[in-house]
Amino acid sequence: MKNQLFLTAALVCATVITYAQTTIKQANIPSANPDNAEVFTPIPNTVVPGKTFSNAPSDAIVLFDGKNLDEWMSEDKSPAKWNVADGIVTVNKKAGDIETKRQFNSYQLHIEWRIPADIAGEGQARGNSGVFLSGKYEIQVLDNYNNENKTYTNGMAGSVYREAIPLVNPAKKAGEWNVYDIAYSAPEFNDDGSVKAPGHVTVFFNGVMVQNNTEIRGGTSTDKKHVYVKHGAAPLRLQAHGDKSVPISYRNIWIREE
Ligand code: MG
Repeated sequence: MKNQLFLTAALVCATVITYAQTTIKQANIPSANPDNAEVFTPIPNTVVPGKTFSNAPSDAIVLFDGKNLDEWMSEDKSPAKWNVADGIVTVNKKAGDIETKRQFNSYQLHIEWRIPADIAGEGQARGNSGVFLSGKYEIQVLDNYNNENKTYTNGMAGSVYREAIPLVNPAKKAGEWNVYDIAYSAPEFNDDGSVKAPGHVTVFFNGVMVQNNTEIRGGTSTDKKHVYVKHGAAPLRLQAHGDKSVPISYRNIWIREE
């Protein structure tokens, strides 16, 4: 009899708990009302933001935190040979471009760069580097502080190289750090290699919008016509430009896949 009472009590308890849990769940996720546009699922994942907008949020992949180039390699897949010191990485022009070991589709990218204070040269030969989205579409890096270094405007810092002039020029003086925050939608391709949807890019340069959902027209070469060549997920690439000016540096690089 005692045992039976105990069993009944346990069953009642379990039922109440299950009912309560179900009720709480239902209370948290109301069902969609067909009479209006409200939906309740899917629920976005929570992300812990960085201390400032420059600090990596909790779901970011940190590509360079000042310590090493473990996330990077040379284009020939050998270890990346750029110079890491004092929390920054400086381009090694002789070693060529570096690219991430990981491959990405669309993403948010944060990257900081600095032209050395003793920069010399002019036009495209003054602090030239570049951030190549999907390894193919260059957001130019160049010394263009105060528009003093004359060059073609679709090749200035903040341009989609030889495609799109930056809306304004918020570049900082050589010796100071610049920041790019980039939202990149990778192009999509049909099976036959034709373009299903071109790539698009939004660039905030030192917090100032310089590209607003700009359509990318193809691989940003020096050729007059830029063309797309079908690709999928691809590395992020940083340029070791062959000009004679002193090399620039990067720091605090992180990425959030879409
Ligand atoms: Mg460049």
